[in-house]
Amino acid sequence: MLIVRGAIKDYDWGIVDGLERWSNRTTGGPQAELWFGVHPGGPSPVVDSDGVPTGELLADRFDVEAIPLLVKLLAAARPLSVQLHPTRQRARDGWEAQRQEGSPPVFSDPFEKTEMLVALDPFEAFVGWRDIREAAAVLRGIDGTEEAVAALEAGRLGEAIRLLLDLASDERVAALPAAASAAGLPPEQVEAYAIVAENYPGDQGGLLTPLLAYLKLEPGQAVYVPAGLPHSYIRGTGLEVMTSSDNVIRLGLTSKAVFVDHAIEALIPGLQPQFMPTTHGDLIWPIDSPFVVRVHRTGTERIQQGSYRIVLLIEGEATVASEFGEIVLSPGTAAVIASDDPDNYVTSNGLVAIIQSTER
Ligand SMILES: [Zn+2]
Repeated sequence: MLIVRGAIKDYDWGIVDGLERWSNRTTGGPQAELWFGVHPGGPSPVVDSDGVPTGELLADRFDVEAIPLLVKLLAAARPLSVQLHPTRQRARDGWEAQRQEGSPPVFSDPFEKTEMLVALDPFEAFVGWRDIREAAAVLRGIDGTEEAVAALEAGRLGEAIRLLLDLASDERVAALPAAASAAGLPPEQVEAYAIVAENYPGDQGGLLTPLLAYLKLEPGQAVYVPAGLPHSYIRGTGLEVMTSSDNVIRLGLTSKAVFVDHAIEALIPGLQPQFMPTTHGDLIWPIDSPFVVRVHRTGTERIQQGSYRIVLLIEGEATVASEFGEIVLSPGTAAVIASDDPDNYVTSNGLVAIIQSTER
């Protein structure tokens, strides 16, 4: 068992010092994500029992076979890009093709990215597809969208996406909140479109947001986002669990590169998110998921030998004990437990996330 801290990412959409309670650092700038894992994009530093870095990285000791999950704490001040992630096959093929042809860097690694977000504060997101009639009603409130709406209603999603990307302009993106209101969407959704319009004026992906379903998670609730499902997290603080991949194919609301053809190819029609209306203490186990998550306040939980496990303390205190001894976690530190390590017992008084990989 090793103790790690998160590797900090300062993406521009992060909350200023938003992860301070876990990073133990004030930077005066955005703190968007803390990464707990071995992904080369942000390998976690190993720390001693006092939380002091040992100079070693988790990736020096384990590879992605041993640690197939990446866990993040995320603090979003404004919407993240409209994005989706590739399946295992698509990531593998895309990565290979990209290496051989020297084509643009669409893929960051050869792995599937399937993810789940557990809200730590109220968390708003666009995830999956909005009902087509509702999406069409919003889009009709925006000038010039007739052809795109017709394509959407005829089930030609790729065509609708391309048309909406071409139509995006300052004026049309600014019209989103009024169009949402006119279509009868509730005030919190109108507000979400106001946030999009304010933060991404004229963004080419702005008009795609009416295609996406709105979701508000209360603390402890979760949404599972399989590969192939479009989403854009709007704002909030959460715990994110995913396969160890950084494969993000973007369509908009970003200053990074967008890959429209790749995104449309990677879309899986008919796919829906799994909403987990759980409260703290429940096991969160999405269907066909490569991981399970438990978020606990108090008590003792046994975590069995036989799969990769990571225990991340979010608030309060926790100990992780096995026949070999006991460690005490502080908020923002995590115990990393390899598959062949023995059973461990997690005792918490606060809020602790216990994440295990599953066989697939
Ligand atoms: Zn994502």
